[in-house]
Amino acid sequence: MDLMEYQGKQVFARYGIEVSPGDVARTADEAVAVAQRVGYPVVVKAQVHIGGRGKAGGVKLAHDAEETRFHAGNILGLDIRGHVVSVLWVEHASDIAEEYYASFTLDRSAKKHLGMLSAQGGVDIEAVAASAPDAIARVWVDPTVGLTTEQARAWVEAARLNPAATDGAVDILLTLYRCYVDGDCDLAEINPLILTPDGQVKALDAKVSLDDNAAFRHPEWEAFAGTEDLDERERLAKEKHLQYVGLDGTVGIIANGAGLAMSTVDVVSQVGGTPANFLDIGGGANAAVMAAALEVIESDDKVRAIFINIFGGITRGEEVANGIVQALGRFTPRSPIVIRLDGTNAEEGRRILEPHLSDRLVSQPTMLDAARQAVALAGTVA
Ligand code: GDP
Ligand code: MN
Repeated sequence: MDLMEYQGKQVFARYGIEVSPGDVARTADEAVAVAQRVGYPVVVKAQVHIGGRGKAGGVKLAHDAEETRFHAGNILGLDIRGHVVSVLWVEHASDIAEEYYASFTLDRSAKKHLGMLSAQGGVDIEAVAASAPDAIARVWVDPTVGLTTEQARAWVEAARLNPAATDGAVDILLTLYRCYVDGDCDLAEINPLILTPDGQVKALDAKVSLDDNAAFRHPEWEAFAGTEDLDERERLAKEKHLQYVGLDGTVGIIANGAGLAMSTVDVVSQVGGTPANFLDIGGGANAAVMAAALEVIESDDKVRAIFINIFGGITRGEEVANGIVQALGRFTPRSPIVIRLDGTNAEEGRRILEPHLSDRLVSQPTMLDAARQAVALAGTVA
């Protein structure tokens, strides 16, 4: 789950990373009230699930109530690349001597955590990576050992920050690492990490992405519920407890098991099609789950054909076939469906499907043939 800045700062604060005093505001009046409380000057900041707010006019300094009201009024309702602002974060403004970049994320191929630190912060880090890759100092952290103070210090020195920032940066990076690990973040990024004129190092922005699989041990994440940036299809899938990821193509995919669902996405691409989604219905291929899956897939109006790819294991072929037949009794998809049913009791399953087959419901014996036909149907159906 991707968090907005103010939520990321709540996570930071919980683990002891220093952030400026501030609060959320939903109207210009509320923004002024927060500003009076935290003291001028303040920064008024758009809260959206997208970066580059500063450049888009979503981050403004204000020195008094009038300026705060003016900027809050302008930023509320602002459209930042498709994200309309309805929430502001107002915090006491900091004096900035230098802006740095710091982050932790997982390097899957190295099987280690990757820390990135740069003296060129504040700007888009992808731009720094492209134009001056040497300006980013990287550290790989063995998760069984953790980030040591010596390692952090060497890393900070490699990044060539202002020497006045060294101690403060080491402290905040060690804390950020704890926040990233104990807080179950997929990403914990501070951009800019600033050095103030009086030598303090602190986080002015927060970009945090949480690992949803760890939600069971973070009751405090409930505060973030309902604020995620999901598209309509993903919202519906979540409501129906389906493992769904929206993609851009025209072939809707339903498979049992994450591995098979991923292979199905690959095979559809391999035969020249474009997958509309990833959807794993797990072991439960009953009518209710199948109907829910079809409904979610069809909520995407780009979908032109549906490929149901089931390999029976513990779930037997006849259960799946009955599930599909019953689901089609409850929900009539506008797209044609291609089914590949294999594995345990596949023969019996196909016999159950047989009387229901038509040009709207096709059965194919192999994954490759089924993918080819689904892609062909997606291409020919208007
Ligand atoms: P982003 O553009 O979405 O990444 O938003 P940021 O929170 O990073 O803010 C963008 C820029 O606004 C920062 O790089 C700073 O230059 C500036 N800024 C943000 N907060 C403050 C502040 O408290 N004081 C000052 N002087 N500038 C700030
Ligand atoms: Mn930023």
